[in-house]
Amino acid sequence: MDEVKEVSLEMRDYIVSSGADTLSLCMQCGLCTNLCPYRLVTGEVSEAFNIRKMQRLGQLGLEGFEEENILFACVTCGMCLVNCPREVEIINNVRSMRNTTVAAGFLPGGLRPIAGSLHANGNPWAGEQEKRAKWQDGLDIPAFSEETEYLLYVCCTSCYDTRSQKIAKSVVKLLKQAGVSFGVLTSDEVCCGESIRKLGDEELFTKLAQSNIQLFNSKGVKKIITTSPHCLFSFKKDYPELGGNFEAVHYTELLGDLLKEGKLSIPGELAKKVAFHDPCYLGRHNEVYDAPRELLQAVPGAELLELGRTKNKSLCCGGGGGRVWAEVPFGERFGELRITDAVDKKADILVTACPYCITMLDDACSGLEKGDVLEVMELSEFLCAASQPKV
Ligand code: SF4
Ligand code: SF4
Repeated sequence: MDEVKEVSLEMRDYIVSSGADTLSLCMQCGLCTNLCPYRLVTGEVSEAFNIRKMQRLGQLGLEGFEEENILFACVTCGMCLVNCPREVEIINNVRSMRNTTVAAGFLPGGLRPIAGSLHANGNPWAGEQEKRAKWQDGLDIPAFSEETEYLLYVCCTSCYDTRSQKIAKSVVKLLKQAGVSFGVLTSDEVCCGESIRKLGDEELFTKLAQSNIQLFNSKGVKKIITTSPHCLFSFKKDYPELGGNFEAVHYTELLGDLLKEGKLSIPGELAKKVAFHDPCYLGRHNEVYDAPRELLQAVPGAELLELGRTKNKSLCCGGGGGRVWAEVPFGERFGELRITDAVDKKADILVTACPYCITMLDDACSGLEKGDVLEVMELSEFLCAASQPKV
């Protein structure tokens, strides 16, 4: 006999009240599922996760979406949004469905240390708050004051992870080179909260965001430069909901403008074939496509190659929506497909502009043992390498 499933309108209402305002618009056409990067890989998660079905389960309040493999699989890449004929805000719906279990205390085991560290240290990487600004030692970065135009907000990953710290240092070098008026408040900041909000912990996100908003307002911050497109998303799209209104730009947008105004130039040459990987949160979520390409093309000798899946069709690295902390078996990682895209194009370097993309693509490149033919670099590192080429 078929199993009897109970429709729970209470659960449906709870999901909607948590922010899934457009859940009822879904007409189950399945175009979202077709575009989802999970259709490009095989494995347990790929078999279990179907975003169309997840919307249906949510609409009916039916059991089934709350399994970890389903509920926490979405990387929030936004690819599915490109084609949805009903403009369903699929990612908000996923976030709300996650909230139903997270608010009840059921965060998956692997994510508990992340949330614990955010509560205790203000960052997801178990780094001590006192060491948040350690990467700045010897760099002579001014503190933000009322006379400073921009606050430079550096992503937690680039504050604590040694590989990622190179991104923050390169961005600082370029901002100084272009004569930008900027300063930092790093020691007093906490995580922007973007990923934990996507994971459904609204309460923890609110705590983090309110702490930053209070700090920024007390110091007179009006404009923010971010090193990560995820922080950019949070400041632009999440913080206004809590009364935090700041003009945020990703460093590539600002440097792109300064390049056009003639305030930034890249003097050195770097004769390399370079493919650009559009980070989902810089491209699809914030529509910044031209600035990173213009910066790459400003490097004498650099040849820009376009990957097949590019701009608003860019393939996700697999690190958004909290998946940067997920254990994904080798052979099922989106980043591996991206490395293969770049190798097939015969690129020397795969450049991107996001700390999470760097983590995922670096891992994929070493996993595939392609390090001898392809280098993965963050755009700021590439521009600095061109300014000061190796001898
Ligand atoms: S594309 Fe939009 S309308 Fe179609 S199934 Fe997906 S969410 Fe529903
Ligand atoms: S946001 Fe990306 S991973 Fe999530 S359902 Fe849409 S296409 Fe799939």
